[in-house]
Amino acid sequence: PEQQASKPGFFGRLMGRSETKQVTRRVLDDDMLEQLEELLIASDMGVETATRVTANIAEGRFGKKLSTDEIKSLLAQEVARIMEPVAKPLPIYAKTPQVVLVVGVNGSGKTTTIGKLASQFRAAGKSVVIAAGDTFRAAAVEQLQVWGERAGVPVLTAPEGSDPASLAFDAMTKAEAEGADLLLIDTAGRLQNRADLMEELAKIVRVIRKKDETAPHNTLLVLDATTGQNALNQVSTFGELADVSGLVMTKLDGTAKGGVLVALADRFGLPIHAIGVGEQIDDLQAFDPEEFAKALTG
Ligand code: GDP
Repeated sequence: PEQQASKPGFFGRLMGRSETKQVTRRVLDDDMLEQLEELLIASDMGVETATRVTANIAEGRFGKKLSTDEIKSLLAQEVARIMEPVAKPLPIYAKTPQVVLVVGVNGSGKTTTIGKLASQFRAAGKSVVIAAGDTFRAAAVEQLQVWGERAGVPVLTAPEGSDPASLAFDAMTKAEAEGADLLLIDTAGRLQNRADLMEELAKIVRVIRKKDETAPHNTLLVLDATTGQNALNQVSTFGELADVSGLVMTKLDGTAKGGVLVALADRFGLPIHAIGVGEQIDDLQAFDPEEFAKALTG
């Protein structure tokens, strides 16, 4: 008889395929733990986190026979346990305008995420102002204007190459004058010159603090799930450049299952405020740890 040409999935590879499709059980031994760890590492979870998760699953169960479903649900539980504390929507403060600085490397999805956030807050009845703070990238400014139109939110711009801090100051003035609830500030993502970028971000913060010493109230780092383990480096780098308070992970609609989110949560414990699941305006979702764990473990 012809075999179905389907590839074994995550657990198919771990447990081997049963020809009779009976429930496969396998002894939890060193060999199996090693394979499990390798699969987790391949899902971008990183060595450290994969080792810990595997050890937790083995605890009290070593030498016992487990079924695929049992391992799946143990793994999902472990992942959900790591992710639950970081699943937090962007906190909304009484103080207005709430200033949200958005940082991240170019291409990570900053512009898109700002557009989506603006639209969500508008839908929730908040008034929003966007500042196109990446004044050196004309394309980014244009993109942001398009998103502003879609979301029905004003976008403040400045001439190409002008000082982003001065734009941020003007944006604060406008947001205050208009009684806006939220000010979303886009920033440059040129990591090629870290010292410049650090100074640029520090200057934006200094200037907006002249208007409100508690601002920025959030510094969102936008990360691209398809960059895998690279996201860990970006959190470290941007953590040195700015006071990152939370994360948005984009492009989780693609092939990337986002195992790196587990590594991020495990290592940094930063809140995950939202996830991007597409290029459209409504493709921003709250992060749901259980759903994520299920999707990750298949
Ligand atoms: P920026 O350079 O950081 O401002 O990044 P952009 O917002 O311009 O996004 C870069 C590319 O990624 C664009 O083509 C976006 O449409 C795309 N993008 C952003 N977020 C998502 C997402 O959640 N899913 C998918 N599939 N694409 C996204």
